[in-house]
Amino acid sequence: MSDGSGAKKGKGKGMNAYEVAVAQLNRAADAMHLDEQVHTILLQPKNELIVNFPVKMDDGSYKLLKGYRIQHNNIMGPYKGGIRFHHDVHLDEVKALAAWMTWKCAVMEIPFGGAKGGIKFNPREHSPAELERITRRFTHALGNNIGPDHDIPAPDVGTNGQTMVWLMDTYMNFVPQDRKNAVRGVVTGKTLTSGGSQGREKATGQGLVYVVQEWAKENHFPLDGCTFIVQGFGNVGSFAARILSRLGASMIAVQDHTGALRSNEGLHPGRLAEHVRQTGGVAGYAGGEVITREEFFSTECDLFIPAALENQITAETAPLLKCRAVFEGANGPTDIEGEAILASKGIDVVPDILANAGGVTVSYFEWLQNRRAESWTLDEVDERLHRMMVHAYNTVRRVARDRKLDNRTAAYVHALERIQQVYKERGIFP
Ligand code: NAD
Repeated sequence: MSDGSGAKKGKGKGMNAYEVAVAQLNRAADAMHLDEQVHTILLQPKNELIVNFPVKMDDGSYKLLKGYRIQHNNIMGPYKGGIRFHHDVHLDEVKALAAWMTWKCAVMEIPFGGAKGGIKFNPREHSPAELERITRRFTHALGNNIGPDHDIPAPDVGTNGQTMVWLMDTYMNFVPQDRKNAVRGVVTGKTLTSGGSQGREKATGQGLVYVVQEWAKENHFPLDGCTFIVQGFGNVGSFAARILSRLGASMIAVQDHTGALRSNEGLHPGRLAEHVRQTGGVAGYAGGEVITREEFFSTECDLFIPAALENQITAETAPLLKCRAVFEGANGPTDIEGEAILASKGIDVVPDILANAGGVTVSYFEWLQNRRAESWTLDEVDERLHRMMVHAYNTVRRVARDRKLDNRTAAYVHALERIQQVYKERGIFP
């Protein structure tokens, strides 16, 4: 029987990201008796845009690329969410990521809705000039479907501040001259020089560490001297690791698309980040012993930070984990079976829509600064981010305790109650 989500049915193993997202939503809807109309609306994104566009390669040939922008919901404010460049990007993945953005912004009480986009290709196989043409042609294809008051992209896997500046510049070139500077906020995560915010690059890792600190306080757990492992050593993983290590925690294993490393003495996050910048991955870093993916997951540690892709903590890998808590830096790293196994092992999970919300929070600050032509200091950004992460963490934990829910369901319930209230007040047109 159809559940109205459009995702093909599956159970446990093999569930795609959208099926996982729908199962999470349904679980929270049951827990809070979500209004049926609102539930039905939220099961599908409002808009699904797919564009096929040709781009000229350096050798003069043309390549046809497929790009997506999924706008899940905008009842709380303009659509907001990253753009991913990855060869596995597909419709159901982007739909899931867009829905998670809706919940994340609602959890954080930020006046944005949820969206996500991406292009299905491997950016590592292209020159900077090709990446620029791909980004600009995609932006052109999106046209007025994005905009600073309508839908605001940001970086995600495979994209960065430079990608966002190309996007902004392209968008600026199709608005009237006197509007150019007013549309700077069409994207966030820009470089500092082109209108970005202090603290945006590290924001997701920084926000995650603020949440780790709150969790540690609540559990009387000393971070100084504890151990952690990180999957994915890009923007989120590397900043989380660098910031956490400054608190005295030791990174004893890491894994990415190029391999896995372990060192009982601890891997140096700063030096490893420099190695990744130069070589594209953790493989070849001299500071640790090479291990398999299974050995990585089996590493005994205090904290695990998945910061790569969806569906990594599953029926196969969850039984291997020997940690006290998981802080989801990635979006959707834990599938439904993986989550049940973590619960049965007594491992705490701080879910993605809370743990990695620092990125969209500082994106919101960047958007505000662009609107007001202001420039906040790093201390101001960090202080505001800290306040919002602590508030969101404590709200979710209160809901979890009061209603005897796991953290993920509690975060969903908090988000959905706010969204439901707005639907109630505004009604459904006409
Ligand atoms: P990134 O491109 O900077 O890094 C991605 C990392 O994942 C790389 O280290 C890569 O090697 C690794 N990876 C890719 N495939 C892998 C595989 N099969 N196994 C192991 N590792 C693999 O991307 P990012 O911005 O750090 O994003 C990482 C995750 O965090 C994504 O789930 C993203 O949606 C989420 N996220 C990012 C932000 C942000 O501000 N960038 C905000 C919130 C959530």
